[in-house]
Amino acid sequence: MRRHAEDAGLDGAIIVNTCAVTSEAVRTARQTIRRAARDNPDAPVIVTGCAAQIDAQMFADMPEVTRVIGNHEKMQAETWKPVDLLGGTEKVRVNDIMSIEETAGHLIDGMDGRARAYIQVQNGCDHRCTFCIIPYGRGNSRSVPAGEVVNMVRRLVETGHYEVVLTGVDLTSWGSDLPNQPQLGNLVQRILKLVPELQQLRISSIDAIEMDEALFEVMGDPRVAPFMHLSLQHGDNLILKRMKRRHNRDDAIELAARLRSIRPDIALGADIIAGFPTETEEAFQNSLALIEDCNIAFLHAFPYSPRPGTPAERMPQLEKSVIKERAARLRAVGANALEKHLDSYVGRQVDVLIEKGTSGRLPDFTPVHLDDFEAAEAGRPARARIIEHDKTRLKAVTP
Ligand code: SF4
Repeated sequence: MRRHAEDAGLDGAIIVNTCAVTSEAVRTARQTIRRAARDNPDAPVIVTGCAAQIDAQMFADMPEVTRVIGNHEKMQAETWKPVDLLGGTEKVRVNDIMSIEETAGHLIDGMDGRARAYIQVQNGCDHRCTFCIIPYGRGNSRSVPAGEVVNMVRRLVETGHYEVVLTGVDLTSWGSDLPNQPQLGNLVQRILKLVPELQQLRISSIDAIEMDEALFEVMGDPRVAPFMHLSLQHGDNLILKRMKRRHNRDDAIELAARLRSIRPDIALGADIIAGFPTETEEAFQNSLALIEDCNIAFLHAFPYSPRPGTPAERMPQLEKSVIKERAARLRAVGANALEKHLDSYVGRQVDVLIEKGTSGRLPDFTPVHLDDFEAAEAGRPARARIIEHDKTRLKAVTP
């Protein structure tokens, strides 16, 4: 978006890319719009993203907003021509996202300098988990063809990027809409083979039940980062069913164990929702236990919030105070798990990929603060010795 806006000479406009995943995200988006407009009274305010896609009128009704554009439109260069974007009176330009059948590869480079670039290889989702609003913001699943992805990876490597991250809304469904229905594992194999200069490939979030055999196999390749974020959502079988997830508790535990057997140094992340409708204390305990059972290092704990129009919104809701309290307990268990993970590194020599300044990451995505690395080159790994941590990240010095 930034590149399109710059190419179109659109200077000074404020673009707010909203998220709809929780009601808190939508509230924050509205607050951001108000603040941005107050601080920049002359700038046009363009609102896009999932919350805008799902409820365009709500944003159009805000006096601070100049235009609301959809998730598909925001990625089209034409949208950003000032004459089109700011001209005319129609405030909402949002099409039916469910009608979009193709996705162009979106290259997000330079987010962490030259250390890491992100390629969105898949967008949308064909599942309909009962709590989730995402498909209404992103549409159905569609994939970027492998050849296009390989070309993008090549370009990023040529411009000096060390690591490429493959991202998607439902990444493991990559390929199901392409000819011959290739799977994500095939894509990863192809990238590694065709771009041998690529140093590190990272896979972002995956659906616990959709890993294909080729993907398991390729996780043993040292060029694939030893990290995986699992979309687990809950640890109780009945709640998983009510969420319309496709895995159960044992599937999650088996997956974590299998990944660890292939890649003993792997660190796992997970999303878990606290306070889903009908969740009993016992069911919640199963979520808490799952963190240890899967040995999760990086937990994203979400308090459940009903999303308009989803089936879970019509299920018996828990008291807000209970949801809040359980989310806090879940976060506390997550914080302990992270501490344990960080502890395991103290005293060890490691390679840290320098992001910028004094921050970097280990191959398993553990954040590191570098204490005396003035000469370290951003975007390249440096040897370091871990001396301690502050419960959120490691602290390293030159060995
Ligand atoms: S698989 Fe993920 S994105 Fe798709 S509906 Fe379920 S939670 Fe939402």
